Amino acid sequence: MLKVYNSLINRIQETSFEKDEIKIYLCGPTVQSSPHIGHGRSAVVFDFFVRYLKHLKYKVIFVRNITDIDDKIIEKSKAEGISPKELSEKVIFDFHKAYSELNCLNPEFEPRATESIEQIISFIELLIEKGYAYISNSGVYFEVAKYSDYFALSGRKTDEVLSGTRIDVKEDKKKPEDFALWKFAKDGEPFWNTPWGKGRPGWHIECSAMIRDIFASGIDFHCGGNDLIFPHHENELAQSSSAYEDEVFVKYWMHNGMVNLSGQKMSKSEGNIKLLNQYIDDYGGELIRFFYLRSHYRKPQEFSEDLLIEAKTTLIRLQELLQEVDPVNSNEDTMRIFYDCMNDDLNTPKLLGEIFTTINKLGEKSKNDQKNIKQTIKFIFKLLGFELNFTLKIDQDKLIEFFKKYQIDFENLNLAMEKFIHLRETYRKDKNFKAADTMREDIYNLGINILDGETIEWYWRSS
Ligand SMILES: [Zn+2]
Repeated sequence: MLKVYNSLINRIQETSFEKDEIKIYLCGPTVQSSPHIGHGRSAVVFDFFVRYLKHLKYKVIFVRNITDIDDKIIEKSKAEGISPKELSEKVIFDFHKAYSELNCLNPEFEPRATESIEQIISFIELLIEKGYAYISNSGVYFEVAKYSDYFALSGRKTDEVLSGTRIDVKEDKKKPEDFALWKFAKDGEPFWNTPWGKGRPGWHIECSAMIRDIFASGIDFHCGGNDLIFPHHENELAQSSSAYEDEVFVKYWMHNGMVNLSGQKMSKSEGNIKLLNQYIDDYGGELIRFFYLRSHYRKPQEFSEDLLIEAKTTLIRLQELLQEVDPVNSNEDTMRIFYDCMNDDLNTPKLLGEIFTTINKLGEKSKNDQKNIKQTIKFIFKLLGFELNFTLKIDQDKLIEFFKKYQIDFENLNLAMEKFIHLRETYRKDKNFKAADTMREDIYNLGINILDGETIEWYWRSS
């Protein structure tokens, strides 16, 4: 039984579906600048989820939108001297490149705001008709006071939300908490015609309108970063529940945690943005994907290049161990572990831990069991979107030659490194530190770093 944490009720909940079909929507990017490591996380963790649902034989309809018109896009394109359209196309290209390098499945639908204007306009018209929205001099606004369940999702309070917010007089709203559904265009800004005036959609309305248009009903899962809970998702919920009062808009709200850089939340204002595609170029998409797997999707995840390198060592070991087997579902116990962890709110770090426990006990198993377990682990990784194609950074001949100097026959890197570290330890025990240091330096020049600690670790150097 699949259980997920539902942000609406703030606890883990058993899921149930009326049909074999699952409707899932993920808030995609606002394309004003290229993706950073946080964008990658949201895409990958929900890709694990979509792949898992598909493996469970559900017919999954997965939608991820693109916000390609918004204040920031207009501002940034002005600064760059290009049109908003040119800017958004450029950034969409970068996002698609990242999604593909990270091996994320294509969504069944990828609606864009600028291509959904008609649907957005009808949605707003319905809200005006039902008395939830009003027209002012600057745009069309949702009147929060008319909707009694506001804050149901975020659990916030009006005072808390409004403290510290400046009220922009130009917005001429009835109440400061009212939010824009449609913004009238200022000179030189892109616009679409509507019955109320020329302008562009607000951000929140777009997701409500797209969901209605594509699914023609409420949905099972609504996903996104936890920074979207308020106001974005609260507003989506208010709009959709007001427009379609008899329907449940979303059954399960799922939110991923943020990526922290050196303990700080990664946000544009702090200027610590590093581009996702840069890391993908340096380390490969599979490693970045693997990095996300190591953390529970709901928790904040620390990010640093050291952590990437650490992940790389683990991934290489996994690749080596599994290189000679095919991905086959041939060991029930290992599959059980997989289902238990995934059904437990997608607990991928637990899964990884259990897999390594299994790997460490492989020696106790029969040859046949060993093979079946390895095949099944590879099957699980394939299922989660990993190729595990073994690519050595250094060609085999060079490695054979290197280890020969130390009378080590090279079969695979794990085994060779084990023997290499053992030999170096013998020198250290004999207090022959010079020989131990030379070995360390020698292998460092090959591209591998050895860390002396309670247990001796080794990893590929990043350059
Ligand atoms: Zn959204």
